[in-house]
Amino acid sequence: MNSLFGDLLKISSGLICRGTLVVLAAAHLSATAQNVADNSSAKSNFTLAVIADCQYAEQPDNGKRLYTLCPDKLQQAVAVLNAKMPDAVIHLGDFIDKDFKSFDRLLAITDKLEPPMYHVLGNHDFSVADEFKTQVVRKLSVPARYYAFDHFDWRFIALDGNDVSTYGWPENTAKHAENMALYHAKYSQQKRWNGALGDEQLVWLKQALDKATRENKKVVLLSHFPIFPVNMHNLWNAAAVLELIKPYKVVKAWFSGHNHDGHYGTTEGIHFVTFHAMLDTPDTAFSFVTFSPSQIVIKGQGRQPSMQLTIR
Ligand SMILES: [Zn+2]
Repeated sequence: MNSLFGDLLKISSGLICRGTLVVLAAAHLSATAQNVADNSSAKSNFTLAVIADCQYAEQPDNGKRLYTLCPDKLQQAVAVLNAKMPDAVIHLGDFIDKDFKSFDRLLAITDKLEPPMYHVLGNHDFSVADEFKTQVVRKLSVPARYYAFDHFDWRFIALDGNDVSTYGWPENTAKHAENMALYHAKYSQQKRWNGALGDEQLVWLKQALDKATRENKKVVLLSHFPIFPVNMHNLWNAAAVLELIKPYKVVKAWFSGHNHDGHYGTTEGIHFVTFHAMLDTPDTAFSFVTFSPSQIVIKGQGRQPSMQLTIR
């Protein structure tokens, strides 16, 4: 693994890094280290957009899962986002429901986005044939399965909750064998559609939070899976991850998707926001999220409720 943030990665495709947004290196990078512009000067307010669980599949609607409406809803959201121009757009995982080719249908739409887009990896993003599982990261133009990016004095840390899972790696890999052993030893009572952060990622996260503390950053953790309140959608090792992040005063919020009905809880001064899925509504669901020194304000669109969260 590369040393934590030892290499700074600047993606030149224009999708990942534009303006003052700086992507920081994570594990498993092969990118060349580059110097990046200093963006440490704090801007008091900025707005990002958040979408959760677009979850497209080329198939008929199934109950609340309105697959056929996904492309139109995403298209309409892109038009609104290009008009309002948030500084970036975050998708919190499950961009697709199944089939690797589903990515292309949606990426043809989000390629028209003016702001840069950051993807967090969800369980359904790995509902693809084994041969494609190691291609998901590249397809979504993220630098690694877990990574971080800065915007002014805020640091956004994207985690990979599929790291330890029954579905996240090709079956012929050592990682899959190791994960199945862990599942049977520790997690066999848990839902097979959830996963956990592995030991290496937990070390990386701790180092990332230590570094954010030294640099006086405000941190938002991005994860497809929630960890609080207790819920059947949570990471398998939610309790351990919560214990890890609790002592870090720099952590202001944990943003997740996965639970399509949305959720909210707060403990230890950290806000845990589960955003409503875009998939299962005929209307839409996404948010504009404004970050300021004292609060995070969520302006919901469609069925996503608005929230005003005072930060510690
Ligand atoms: Zn999910």
